Amino acid sequence: MKEKILEVNDLHFAYDNNKNALKGIDLTIYAGERIAVIGANGAGKSTFFLNINGVLTPDEGEILYRGTKITKKSLKELRKNIGIVFQDADNQIIASSVMAEVSFGPMNLKLPREEVRERTLMAMEYMNISDFKDRPPHYLSGGEKKRVAIADIIAMKSEIIIFDEPTAALDPLNAAMLEDVLSRLTDEGKTLLISTHDVDFTYRWADRVLVFCGGKIIADGTPLEIFQNKEVLKQANLLRPTMLDVYEALVQAKMLPADASYPKDLVEFEHCVKYSVKV
Ligand code: ADP
Repeated sequence: MKEKILEVNDLHFAYDNNKNALKGIDLTIYAGERIAVIGANGAGKSTFFLNINGVLTPDEGEILYRGTKITKKSLKELRKNIGIVFQDADNQIIASSVMAEVSFGPMNLKLPREEVRERTLMAMEYMNISDFKDRPPHYLSGGEKKRVAIADIIAMKSEIIIFDEPTAALDPLNAAMLEDVLSRLTDEGKTLLISTHDVDFTYRWADRVLVFCGGKIIADGTPLEIFQNKEVLKQANLLRPTMLDVYEALVQAKMLPADASYPKDLVEFEHCVKYSVKV
């Protein structure tokens, strides 16, 4: 049976008593899931992330972490176990050297000094940033800063890692590096939530997709279920992944059989073409 990590029940949140940014979110997250969180700007994705990581406090509703209801006293438990890699690394990075930056989280957990050091070295190694451990993070390139921001969270050993639009400012090489890191984290059993506008990435990477719209989750399903649901796509102003369009066009033109399984990426697509097309 799938292991429940996080339960969110009827979560509401408003900024400064303005209109609700979250209007009743119900969700259960299971260990090891790869969840893409999609939807237009202002739909409530970031606000939701900040609520489940304890930075913001819900106005209504409850959050249970591993079956235990989170209260003001146990907020630390959420912050320790649910880490966020923010969209803009400059908003996350605060220390004057890379090493000091990466050690900041474990130090805040009040771990023994030796463990802080071990985790810091491990996280820098993991993200391949050990060579610039003494450099000021603010003078690194965008891709390097992103690696530091991810190392911050790796050093916390959080069970759930949230990435807020991680590929937004990355060049293709750094975007590929990020996908590699995501695969490694999944292999290690981490639960990942990623907000993104990249439907192609969502389609090939996620095993579950949440669609936010106007402060609510309007759809929750596999990438195929979501991207074949015209109503949801229209309501949330979403485009379809190119791979899905190309595949369905080939099936419709009878160039591929309709029963072939849907390819997720180029490798699967090539496999599908190779074994379906008669030569
Ligand atoms: P998303 O991450 O999907 O783009 P957000 O969670 O940032 O959406 O925003 C949800 C709603 O909350 C929007 O209406 C936005 O204008 C509002 N909002 C976001 N951050 C703040 C803030 N710091 N103060 C007031 N309103 C905010």
